[in-house]
Amino acid sequence: MGAGKVGIMGGTFDPIHYGHLVTAEAARDKFCLDKVVFVPSGNPPHKKDKPISPGVDRVNMTILATSNNPYFEVSDIELKREGYTYTVDTLKNFIKIYGEDTRFYFITGADAVMEILTWKDVSTILRLCRIVSAYRPGSDINKFVNMVDELERVSRNNVHMIEVPALALSSTEIRRRVKSGITIKYLLPDKVEKYILEKGLYR
Ligand code: ATP
Ligand code: MG
Repeated sequence: MGAGKVGIMGGTFDPIHYGHLVTAEAARDKFCLDKVVFVPSGNPPHKKDKPISPGVDRVNMTILATSNNPYFEVSDIELKREGYTYTVDTLKNFIKIYGEDTRFYFITGADAVMEILTWKDVSTILRLCRIVSAYRPGSDINKFVNMVDELERVSRNNVHMIEVPALALSSTEIRRRVKSGITIKYLLPDKVEKYILEKGLYR
């Protein structure tokens, strides 16, 4: 497939929840994306000290969560890569797959975009894609707005803010709940809840 507009939603997705889904769908709608590809992270350097569920479980949950949206796809491209995985390499992979004419929109929450200047080859990232970022409860709203403004300036308008219904939800909170035996219903799709319980994840 050449040309077109492709969203990339990167994340650990351990597990995927409605905060991820609502953000991806808002970006798709606002920028008329042809699709959004969810890319479960391989081995991100910033999470190296935290235990993380096997890639196959994170991919399976992401597939279950996205299967009812015809615009959503899942890619295991980062899980196949050796060593630390970096967004810049993922973008280059996508350009190879989709062609140079495709426009890429990298979708993130506020916490991720505020760290973007620490990412490997950030100037290349800003050249290869547009960044779409949503405010996320818990992040400092003023810092977020200033950061997006600043990035917009340095990247010549390749960074955009989108509005999403604020969901004060995180995978960390879901894992904590499962561990403590607290319900996770309505925080993520039923199929993902069922998968977590059946596989005994996060206990
Ligand atoms: P963890 O608590 O394990 O870090 P998480 O909920 O932050 O999990 P990630 O997989 O780390 O989820 O996040 C992937 C992407 O989704 C990041 O860009 C993050 O900012 C964004 N995101 C996660 N939760 C939300 C939310 N509730 N609203 C908006 N964006 C979100
Ligand atoms: Mg996170």
